Amino acid sequence: MPSSKGYAAQSAESPLAPHAFTRRDPGPTEVTIDILYCGVCHSDLHMARNEWGNSVYPMVPGHEIVGRVSAVGHSTEKFKVGDIAAVGVIVDSCRHCAPCNRGEEHFCTEGATLTYAVPDRVDGSITMGGYASNYVVDERFAHSVPANLDLAAVAPLLCAGITTYSPLRHWNVGPGKKVGIVGLGGLGHMALKFAHSFGAHVVQFTTNARKREDAIKLGADEVVVSNDPAQMKAHTRSFDFILDAVSAPHNLNDYLPLLKQDSTLCLVGLPPEPPAISPFALISGRVSVAGSMIGGMPETQSMLDYCGEHNIVSEVEVIPIQKVNEAYTRMLKQDVKYRFVIDMSTL
Ligand code: NAP
Ligand code: ZN
Ligand code: ZN
Repeated sequence: MPSSKGYAAQSAESPLAPHAFTRRDPGPTEVTIDILYCGVCHSDLHMARNEWGNSVYPMVPGHEIVGRVSAVGHSTEKFKVGDIAAVGVIVDSCRHCAPCNRGEEHFCTEGATLTYAVPDRVDGSITMGGYASNYVVDERFAHSVPANLDLAAVAPLLCAGITTYSPLRHWNVGPGKKVGIVGLGGLGHMALKFAHSFGAHVVQFTTNARKREDAIKLGADEVVVSNDPAQMKAHTRSFDFILDAVSAPHNLNDYLPLLKQDSTLCLVGLPPEPPAISPFALISGRVSVAGSMIGGMPETQSMLDYCGEHNIVSEVEVIPIQKVNEAYTRMLKQDVKYRFVIDMSTL
């Protein structure tokens, strides 16, 4: 069995620390990936600290993985040794239900297998994530990376990228549409880049006026400081779509009156506490609140290919793994521009 080393949380209260473990042997259609970079998603922090109440320990977080294939099973078709491969939030599914057959493995009716902290479908062991030296995965759940992109800056595309690309596509964001992005963090800055690239008029909402200049550089046509009621009111009933990528509790009822009639506010952010939604804010304008999670394997590959064609990557601060706990602290202070990525050679 391939041995692996990584950084793990031993409990909700303990910082991440070095941890040795083994991966299962790769099967016929599986690849072993030596990890080069892994992004730091706010979900990793929610999970490491058991904020959603479903964590198991020891936990090696990490689901924004880019690496080099170091071994392949005898029946692999997509990858050979030496190729670059990328892995995101899910690493397996039943592969026969209707959503799986449609390539929407993330909606697998039997439940998709997450990259870390859930039982592995193959051997029942608990999956360990990408803050580690390697990963073993079926090639269906690994993606090819366009050769022109910087690999450290590609890693966040595997979660922050697909999680924002998918709803923007689903709700047909493009020319002639006015779109709001709430929160300029890891997900938010990718949403901003995609919405701008798709040709929409993009308004970035932020709690932090100091992010205005960055937002404009990243593609915003306008920036609204969301704790200024006058700035919010100026956009009443004007949005075709709003994507909310905020990690902490905030008032959705401030955003619903900004939607045009029959339009949608889509949540991708996952604060631990459920939001309070005023029915009055919903009935006025018959607006909807929806949600979206990551994306299926074909759409994830399409997103990566789109990024290759349009030269889109994440804005990253590359850190050694020894700084991952500090990165969590900074993420909570909204002090990240705009994604931490771990250089796994520092392990
Ligand atoms: P992040 O980099 O920490 O960004 C979160 C942003 O939320 C911050 O930059 C900040 O934006 C805003 N924010 C933070 N605290 C706030 C508060 N108290 N009030 C208002 N705004 C606040 O996090 P991320 O990695 O982008 O993840 C965002 C959320 O998406 C997390 O909850 C994560 O678990 C979830 N997620 C969901 C999926 C999915 O499939 N749906 C996938 C990945 C992640 P400003 O500074 O601009 O205000
Ligand atoms: Zn994530
Ligand atoms: Zn399925």
